[in-house]
Amino acid sequence: MKYFKKGQIEKIIDRLAEKADVYVPMLRGQQSGFYSWKSYDENYDDLIFDLLNVYSPPKNIVLPQTEKMYSFDQQGQEIIIKPEEIPVEPNVIFGIRSCDVKAIEYLDEVFFTRTFVDEFYKARRDQVTIVANACYNPGTNCFCKSMGVNPLEPEAADVILREVENGYVWESKTEKGNILTKQIEDLLEEKEVELYEPNRFVRKVNYDGVAEKLKDLFDHPMWEKYSDPCQTCGICTYMCPTCYCFDVQVKNWGEEGYRFRCWDSCMYREYTQMAGGHNPREAATERFRNRFLHKLQFFNERYGTPLCTGCGRCVVACPAGVDIIRMIELIKGAEPSV
Ligand code: SF4
Ligand code: SF4
Repeated sequence: MKYFKKGQIEKIIDRLAEKADVYVPMLRGQQSGFYSWKSYDENYDDLIFDLLNVYSPPKNIVLPQTEKMYSFDQQGQEIIIKPEEIPVEPNVIFGIRSCDVKAIEYLDEVFFTRTFVDEFYKARRDQVTIVANACYNPGTNCFCKSMGVNPLEPEAADVILREVENGYVWESKTEKGNILTKQIEDLLEEKEVELYEPNRFVRKVNYDGVAEKLKDLFDHPMWEKYSDPCQTCGICTYMCPTCYCFDVQVKNWGEEGYRFRCWDSCMYREYTQMAGGHNPREAATERFRNRFLHKLQFFNERYGTPLCTGCGRCVVACPAGVDIIRMIELIKGAEPSV
């Protein structure tokens, strides 16, 4: 087994950072997320490899919060369009957990498949190497296993780190992983170590049959009742590693300007507001229902899996105590309305 001591981790990141922008889990002030190692400030930031799970998922690395798409300049009758150059710097997401790796797989499905390739997403994604950190101690709000995610074997990872006593096992899984391994070979030792037994999950839910069941619950009065506390703040969607909706906006001054896209949230009224004034999801209840239908029914119908990896972030972040695990249980228990 390839192994390195915990004390070597910064050296390893430093070495990887010679050839790529390395994003690592950090506590930055009150906020935790994946930040570039280039921006690490030892007086302000803490590296947090043992925390489950950082507050902000690393989806912004493949799908930035705002992204310029093209610039334009109108000269008389002619409009000159200048495509935006897509950044191509290689990067490494170091220490990402299985739930967030799975979320990137789902984003890949959405942005690459079904005959459409989103070139902005693809250009960034191609540059990513994933170094995952296997989870032997699920957090109190983690329920990834219930949503079909294997916390110990993130499938799309290029390298899997396994925490062991005083160190980590380094397991390369792909060609991209082998390239990183070569880069740090002198910092790895060959050693037989005992792997931990994974601890049990505190939270579990049975998703079986939920997508089917939801087909008969569109008009059920439960949506009114359970959406009542929701403040439509949208934090559940921003924090979710699998939510990918964006809006396209324009910024212009005189005849010049640019178009950009930015994250959007289905929890907002404006999300479905049409130019003529009609809004198919005017009420908060309709938006609340749509969020759960998309996650638990529609995505499953199209891609064969729910759009939730059980990371637990929306449960932690919701100011109104809306809990997707509880919602799944309530859906399972609901009688179709007549
Ligand atoms: S975080 Fe909670 S309150 Fe805010 S939109 Fe989501 S469900 Fe509603
Ligand atoms: S819906 Fe909630 S638990 Fe599921 S992936 Fe999104 S943030 Fe995580």
